[in-house]
Amino acid sequence: MSIVSVNPATNQELKSFEALSKDEVLSAIERADQAFQSWRKTSFAERKQCLLDVAAQLRSRSDEYSRLISRDMGKRISESEYEIEYCANISEFYANGAESFLADEPMEVEGVDAYIQYTPLGVLMGVMPWNFPFYQVIRFATPNIMAGNTVMVKHASNVPQCAQAIEDLFHDCGLPTGVYTNLFIPSEFVETIISDSRVQGVSLTGSEKAGAAVAAVAGKNLKRSVLELGGNDPFIVLEDADLDSTIELAVQGRMVNAGQSCVASKRFIVVEPVAERFLEGFKEQLSQMKLGDPLDEDTTLSPLSTEQAAVKLQQQVQSAIDAGATVLLGGDRPDREGAYFNPTILTDVTPDAPTFDQELFGPVATVYVVKDEAEAIELANHSSFGLGGSVFTQDNQRGRRVAEQIESGMVFINQPTKSQAELPFGGIKNSGYGRELSHLGILEFVNKKLIHAG
Ligand code: NDP
Repeated sequence: MSIVSVNPATNQELKSFEALSKDEVLSAIERADQAFQSWRKTSFAERKQCLLDVAAQLRSRSDEYSRLISRDMGKRISESEYEIEYCANISEFYANGAESFLADEPMEVEGVDAYIQYTPLGVLMGVMPWNFPFYQVIRFATPNIMAGNTVMVKHASNVPQCAQAIEDLFHDCGLPTGVYTNLFIPSEFVETIISDSRVQGVSLTGSEKAGAAVAAVAGKNLKRSVLELGGNDPFIVLEDADLDSTIELAVQGRMVNAGQSCVASKRFIVVEPVAERFLEGFKEQLSQMKLGDPLDEDTTLSPLSTEQAAVKLQQQVQSAIDAGATVLLGGDRPDREGAYFNPTILTDVTPDAPTFDQELFGPVATVYVVKDEAEAIELANHSSFGLGGSVFTQDNQRGRRVAEQIESGMVFINQPTKSQAELPFGGIKNSGYGRELSHLGILEFVNKKLIHAG
């Protein structure tokens, strides 16, 4: 079996990689477990140097890595460059911060001499998606490697060039064999890996379906898991919002990565007094987006990651239309080669439409007009997802008050949801559980061990 990279801008095959056999996977687990026995004993200073080298190499080879991302899954080249720079920041953040995040923590309990020691668990499995092919992996791997764990990654099957480049990157930067392992495998092999007694936990970013499948196997085998799944983030616009900047940020929030981000703004919930002006400005800006080759700097909207993704999005949009949605813009695919989808605005999507509670992973915005703040909050929370969210108002107190009522893992006032190395990232409800990034991200796969000294 081969794992194939296809350029979504042309649907042409670029490169293929041979998948591993089950025996090869078992050998890889053994190497990762062996590596753990010595990696756990290395000093923070030694691990730190490796990850600072990773950051430096990401920067020095940014052009090469960015082109791989853009070719494997169609991201606009400037966004690919940003992704690589952000990966360098995350590597540095954990390289510099891990020792203090994992320092022994004395317990402030009267009459007790005790502390918590944070120790690594062992081999971890990462199941990663294609939408940010470097970032998702670096976000999982770097805190865990700094904590003394070893990691194996099954990357999405449409980004094999990135998967290989990431393994080479860690290897070039002096990580011993087995500390980071790329596994070219079909998803059916994941169960075998999680069930293996040498593997201590699994982190998955992807769809609810994949998350539920992996969590079920983890549960059956009593393994720890972290899930970062989809989102249907609300973007609430109140009547006192600065409308010009709000519209600009709405475009950015929806169109990041051609709309294929778990924390992209997806449901635009606008109060009546400003709805008409918002819709007019939003439509005007989206209609000016320029579809084109991801490597062309003038392109503002690139293709989706695969032809199948574009076909699936078209089906979702059609089912919304069949259920009574109005197409204010787009709604279809352009007449050109590649996995492109036109920028789209849907209104009149009712809660009984099948797409109402689905993640639309592409350049499709749904806009809802509501009476007031209370209705906006109610609609925002009418979702099985709970990842991010935004509220736009010039009254900061009001923004906080609304933010505190949104059922999600993250809410941003006057900006779309975003990710930053220092800030926790993750959701509730069907968006998953656990946190990545920040000091919390490094605590997911460590033993928080109590030492009671009297
Ligand atoms: P998937 O969830 O199928 O893929 C994510 C990763 O999980 C890939 O590595 C995939 O491998 C793997 N995987 C899939 N099924 C299983 C399984 N049963 N057991 C173990 N591993 C599995 O996402 P898709 O690419 O199919 O995208 C579908 C939808 O998921 C999108 O439209 C979007 O709504 C959502 N999604 C959300 C993401 C996020 O950032 N939260 C990222 C990606 C998708 P393989 O590639 O080999 O199938």
